[in-house]
Formats: sequence, C-alpha cells, structure tokens
Amino acid sequence: MDTPNHKGPQPKPGLTQIKPYKPGDATVEGVTDAVKLSANENPLGTSPLAREAYVRAAAHMHLYPEGSALRVREAIAEKFGLEVDRILCGQGSDELLHLFGGAYLQPGDEVLQGAYGFVSYPLVALKNRAVPVLAPERDFTIDVDAMLERVSDRTRLVFVANPNNPTGTMLPWSEIARLHAGLREDILLVLDAAYAEYVDDPDYRPGLELARTAPNVVMTRTFSKIHGLAAVRLGWAYGPKEVIEAAGRVRGPFNVSIPAQAAGIAALADDDFPARSRAHNTKWRAWLTEEIEKLGLKVTPSAGNFVMLHFASEEQRRAGDAFLRQRGLILRPLDPHALMQQMRLSVGLEEDNRRVIAALQDFLT
Ligand SMILES: *Cc1c(COP(=O)(O)O)cnc(C)c1O
Repeated sequence: MDTPNHKGPQPKPGLTQIKPYKPGDATVEGVTDAVKLSANENPLGTSPLAREAYVRAAAHMHLYPEGSALRVREAIAEKFGLEVDRILCGQGSDELLHLFGGAYLQPGDEVLQGAYGFVSYPLVALKNRAVPVLAPERDFTIDVDAMLERVSDRTRLVFVANPNNPTGTMLPWSEIARLHAGLREDILLVLDAAYAEYVDDPDYRPGLELARTAPNVVMTRTFSKIHGLAAVRLGWAYGPKEVIEAAGRVRGPFNVSIPAQAAGIAALADDDFPARSRAHNTKWRAWLTEEIEKLGLKVTPSAGNFVMLHFASEEQRRAGDAFLRQRGLILRPLDPHALMQQMRLSVGLEEDNRRVIAALQDFLT
C-alpha cells in the first residue's frame, strides 16, 4: 500500500503485511485416496444428532436466524452453569477473536502472544493497525516471564491458546493465573480453549472461573474440533458482561446461521460423540507420539488432537512432506510460524495413523 500501483481506492495501511490465512491442503494432484491430516478436524465426523438437526434446519432456509443465537447461548449456559448474557456466539471462534480485536484495538496498540501462537492472532492485530508482539517461548511452550517482560503501555490484548496450535503444548493453570496477575486490568486476556476437551492433564483448566471473576478475561471455545462441526462455523466466548457487549457491537446482525444454531444445540445434547472422540484421540495421540519417536524423530508432547513432529533439518522436512504427499498423506507445514523443520499431524482414523507411520518409516530408511 505504501507504493500504490492501483489507481482506485487504497486499502488501509498495514493490510499488505497480512498474509492471508492458508487452510490445510485437502488434495494432492494425481493422488486419489489422499487423507487430510492438516486441519485438526475430527476424524470421527460429527455427532449424528447434530447432523440430523442441521438437515432439519433446511426447512427454515428462507428465514433470518435469531440474531443473538439465544437458544445456543441458553444451551451453553445450562451445560456449563453460566449466565446467558455473558456468552457471545460467533461464526467459529475465529470470528470471536476478530470481534475482540475490533472492539478493543486502536492503531498503534500492541497485541501480545507467544512466538508460536495461533496464526489468526497477528491477523487480528494487523487488520486493526495494531502491532503483533511475539514473546519467545521455551520448549515450544509459552514462557510467562517472557510474556510479562514484553507488556508495554501500548499492550491492549493478550492471546493465549491453551493448548496451543500448532505446538500442542499447554500451560498448567498456575501459569495462566500468574500471567493474568501480571497484567494491568485494562489489558484484555483472551484464553483460546479450542482444544480444551482433549486435555487430560489434571493441572489444566480452560479458564471459566477467571472469565467469571476477572474484569479483563474472556475464554473462547469452538464446535469445530471435538464436536466435528468445522464447516458449520460456530464458537462461543464467555467473559465479563461489558466485554461481551462491546464485542457484540461489532458483530454482524445474523452471524450464526439457523443450521449452525440447530447443529450446535444438538451437539451439546450429545455426550456420547465427544466422549468417543476424546477416547479415540487420547489413544491415537499417544500411539503416534510413541511410533514417531521410535523412528527417531522428536515429537513435542501434545494436549490437543494433533502432534508437532521435528525433522532433523528443513531439507529433510521438505523431502518428508513431499514423500508423504505422494503417499496421499497431507500434513501441515508450519512455515507461517517459521518452524521450518517441523510439521503438524492431526490424529486420524486408525488406518490413516498406521499409513503415516508406515510412510515415515519408508521415508527414513
Ligand atoms: C481451530 C482453532 C480455532 C478456531 O476454530 P474455529 O473453527 O474458528 O472455531 C481457534 N483457536 C485455535 C488455537 C484453533 O486451533
């Protein structure tokens, strides 16, 4: 934008710095049975109850949805013991991250995150002409001291994904509490708990209690991962009434569609599907970690539905990625995070997980 060639309207300064979000690849040219292990989707699909509700909702396609997703918020409030007016629903939790940015960021503000934080966070900053500030991590895990050292007068928003994507690492609750205690009250701490349901560490908490009691904390959740509703686009946030209302002012009037609302309500009523998804994930995440390590590659211990594996060099990673793709196995390269030796692998169905290990073995020998 600084040296415009285009004669027409000029976008806001700073937008050229945004690298558009690149979703995980889904296909490989010339390979017919490719399996997508690049987007942390649920390999078991979706709750049958949610699917039925979605299909039934087609009868109402000609109608505008209830604008505030009230029935979804009521179902969430009931399930988690929360207040309806402190919940905000969004088109995926990604929209919610952008709503908080839209409500709170002014040009020149700083948005603090870990060095390997979720890819959306810098986008939220840049589109509001704010500055992403990346604190170095330790063992691919957020370092609370490094974060607090980078808080400045301009810090307005802090994003923490716990567990984090793409690294899979999590912070115990004591560390989140310590981070929060070190932040001024005018700084909004967003706890992004997209993978909360997959965590089995007893020291983990998604952040509901803090979002209830602190004036400056919100927690976000998604239906995309354990509920298997990524295409439907539904997420929610919980926090102080004032913060939820501020973010609500910058949302679109009908941001959650009728089928999304119907599917979300049905998904919340189904305890079986998330339980099966979690059990599958726990088993195969451990298996993948062990098998990859047996092959001599390092794996960062993951609390999510994916693992980050480390090749010996960038060159080996590139060759490995190409080899796996030719076998129809699509993993996620992590170039946007400057993690050039690493790849992220989503936990798949048993046969796909076995295919990955067999292919890696062939590649390495
Ligand atoms: C997948 C993911 C999300 C959001 O997903 P939505 O589909 O937009 O709900 C948010 N944060 C993290 C860390 C994620 O990995």
